[in-house]
Amino acid sequence: MFENSGESRTSLSEYGEFGLIDHLTRNFVITPENTLKGIGDDAAVLDFKDEKVVVTTDLLVEGVHFDLSYMPLKHLGYKAVMVNLSDLYAMNAKARQITVSIAVSNRFPVEALEELYSGIELAAKLYKVDVVGGDTSSSNSGMIISVTALGAAKEEEVVYRSGAKANDLLVVTGDLGAAYMGLQVLEREKQVFKVNPNSQPDLDPYTYLIERQLKPEARQDIPPLFKALDLHPTSMIDISDGLSSETIHLCKNSGTGVNLFEEKIPLDPAVISVCEEFKLDSTTIALSGGEDYELLFTIDQGDYDKIKGNPNFTVIGHMTEENEGRHLVTRANQKIELIARGWNAMKKEEGEGN
Ligand code: ADP
Ligand code: MG
Repeated sequence: MFENSGESRTSLSEYGEFGLIDHLTRNFVITPENTLKGIGDDAAVLDFKDEKVVVTTDLLVEGVHFDLSYMPLKHLGYKAVMVNLSDLYAMNAKARQITVSIAVSNRFPVEALEELYSGIELAAKLYKVDVVGGDTSSSNSGMIISVTALGAAKEEEVVYRSGAKANDLLVVTGDLGAAYMGLQVLEREKQVFKVNPNSQPDLDPYTYLIERQLKPEARQDIPPLFKALDLHPTSMIDISDGLSSETIHLCKNSGTGVNLFEEKIPLDPAVISVCEEFKLDSTTIALSGGEDYELLFTIDQGDYDKIKGNPNFTVIGHMTEENEGRHLVTRANQKIELIARGWNAMKKEEGEGN
């Protein structure tokens, strides 16, 4: 269906490890202000001036976190960078550098790795980060990618998961559930393709959903926007697992409860219509779908005017005292307990878990 195209297949062995690293990393440039030495020595040398260093890492395993039958390698490279940058923005930090480590079997030709690296390169360019190192290894089975991201923030700018107080407003950026529904569409097309390899899927109606799944964008615009609005969130997290589990993380780390209002959850019209098509409840998808890479944060009520009317932000609830519990307030005005069901758990329930 989405074969990684290209006729030529150059064997990895033609390059050798060092030749391969040189080849894949030949286009990376560094920002001299932040990076004194990038790729090419025993270690990179970075300059954070008078700011604190914020660091995060993620590991992506073929068959567990991605499926190459519908994930083009260029998108995979891009997404591997995004999931890490999203964690930096969730700390209210600026992204500065990444390292990329890969393990691949020789079933992948050099051209496949070029595709992967073109996605990494594009992400690094658009998000202004330097690729300053990595490691390359062989793998006996699938592909493994590990990205580490380094960011910078003034100490007083850093936002933790732990600062929310009762009565703070709970706010989310963008809209939710689209990436999960994009995955559902891709999984469905994969099954159709297995039965009939000549079928040409019409994916036009699902463009937004599929893009959210295959080419997520981390919210690099939000930390500078907070600065411009003179807004300091009391707590923050990025939405990788689903709104309910991230909300519960903020509550647990901050020692608060929450009231989250179902009717306030921002959904794109495409999510609503495809949920109807798949006979899924859109609230459940937003709560448990995951991979949205939006930011979820709390602000003091006194700061409400700073975000009021801003299309980037939706107030979806408020924090409460811890002993009041964590609740979803439904459209029928019923209070039900908010439970964490990450998208992995959801997949298991559907009998396709890993
Ligand atoms: P070492 O033996 O010290 O691990 P390597 O030969 O693995 O050194 O790496 C040489 C240089 O290339 C280092 O700067 C390393 O960070 C970088 N590098 C290695 N693999 C990758 C990769 N897959 N992507 C980006 N940089 C890499
Ligand atoms: Mg090495």
